[in-house]
Amino acid sequence: MKTVLFGLDGATYTILDELVARGVMPNLGKFYAEGVRAPLQSSPLPLTPQAWTTLATGRSPGNHGIADWAQFRWSAQGNYGHINDSRDNHAETMWRYVSRQGRRVTVLNYYGTAPAQEIRGHSIPGFTSGRHLRRSSYPRDLFAQLEGVEGLDAKVLGLDLEIERQVLQEMAPELWADWLRHHIARDRAWFGILAHLMKTEPSDLSAIVFDGVDKLQHLAYRYLDPAYAPKQPTPWEAEVIGLCHEYFAQIDSFLGRTLDLVGPWGRVFVVSDHGFTASHEIFYINRWLAEQGWLVWKGQQQEDQEEACATLKPENDVNAIDLERSKAFAFTPSANGIWIQTAPGEYDGFRREVMRRLLEIQGPDGGQVVTHVRTREEIFSGPQIEKFPDLTVELRDFGFVSVLNSSAVVRPRSAPFGTHHPHGVLLGKGMGLRAGMKVDLLNILDVAPLVLHSLGLEIPAEYDGRMPGEFYDAGYLASDPPRVATPVSAAIVSDTHENGSQEESTAGDEEMDAEDEAILMERLKSLGYIE
Ligand SMILES: [Zn+2]
Repeated sequence: MKTVLFGLDGATYTILDELVARGVMPNLGKFYAEGVRAPLQSSPLPLTPQAWTTLATGRSPGNHGIADWAQFRWSAQGNYGHINDSRDNHAETMWRYVSRQGRRVTVLNYYGTAPAQEIRGHSIPGFTSGRHLRRSSYPRDLFAQLEGVEGLDAKVLGLDLEIERQVLQEMAPELWADWLRHHIARDRAWFGILAHLMKTEPSDLSAIVFDGVDKLQHLAYRYLDPAYAPKQPTPWEAEVIGLCHEYFAQIDSFLGRTLDLVGPWGRVFVVSDHGFTASHEIFYINRWLAEQGWLVWKGQQQEDQEEACATLKPENDVNAIDLERSKAFAFTPSANGIWIQTAPGEYDGFRREVMRRLLEIQGPDGGQVVTHVRTREEIFSGPQIEKFPDLTVELRDFGFVSVLNSSAVVRPRSAPFGTHHPHGVLLGKGMGLRAGMKVDLLNILDVAPLVLHSLGLEIPAEYDGRMPGEFYDAGYLASDPPRVATPVSAAIVSDTHENGSQEESTAGDEEMDAEDEAILMERLKSLGYIE
């Protein structure tokens, strides 16, 4: 059955409920009234690359190996940083699985689809610079095929470093309106391509992600969450709120058109990779590790004055740490994790000590700042476990840690700033799905089984989630029960570049060069994701 995965990066019911109630999102309101919805538990670390990859593969992060935007290795020979891409994912994506079953797939603006891999259908990757978009798409002549289609402009579709950098921490007030308008135009371009392909070459599965939701919420969360929004906005605040509503109203119009394009015999699932909330303080994790005597800075490190999570140059943050003399350190804010290096016999005792002391950290108000500390093996399992930090922390405000030095371990923010929450959203509307129902928390691992079942396909036996039958009317489900496939051979698992047997990727000869990697690094930094 025709199925659409309508991705809203970072969408949360805290804001969607309000927008539906105010009439800004009437089509989403139809999902509330005539469809089924659930809160959705994100991946162990509610971070875009880890979460979208978990959703796309149906496998836990320990199996797919995408922990963070980037991965770092360090040794006496030197440090090594690498931006993750499709070849770092060790599990098969749904796009590929569905293609192998002979169905057509369209994937637009989804994380981790560059370099492109062969599918039966079309893909244009997300989180990719405009000048790489054309050659990272599939098939390779897709842009030529789509010539003249509304929205087909790589400059608009790709990530624009200059524009994204403006959202770094607090953006100057005079820049907000244009920045919001840029995201409205960018989403319109992506939807133009989806609508064209759904009309002219409809796929069995169409997936699209609107990542502007995440960016807009990082910046403007305090104007969207009714708990923080000003009751009497200034003219400038009123303009910002108006543009934010225009952004969401446009998303909603896309949703309405998608429902029309799919028709009464299809299904549309609206999903986010994680939720959102407000962060009120900054925990300077490396500053704290230094105070414990476990981290040694290389020389005097400047104290952060700008409520930043990282410096502008990623390598500077890693190089600020004397790795040879440090026992524990954090590389990126986005990982919210600590790496440990000790003599093997010391490891368990030392790690327990770090955990114990983390939980004792008090904020200026005397409250507990780190609410959870989880060991690597507690939350990640599988062959890729080494890619994950030894400890992952969760803060009381769900903020990302800062890896910079600071005058204090915990400092309040001057204004609430949007951050990721572990609970995202999943809504469904269409054939057999329950109407007007809200069901209990589901897991992001359950989305791939839900989608494959909707397509009438068997669910791979190795998937780590389950088909959430509670999304369907019992009578319908009895007539169309989920089917589990026999275990898949190792052939798929070996489809990676780590062991040298990677299936030839269509863009493999045009890998990201150092300059592009630097641009992507800059962008991720500007969003506060890394260093
Ligand atoms: Zn995200």
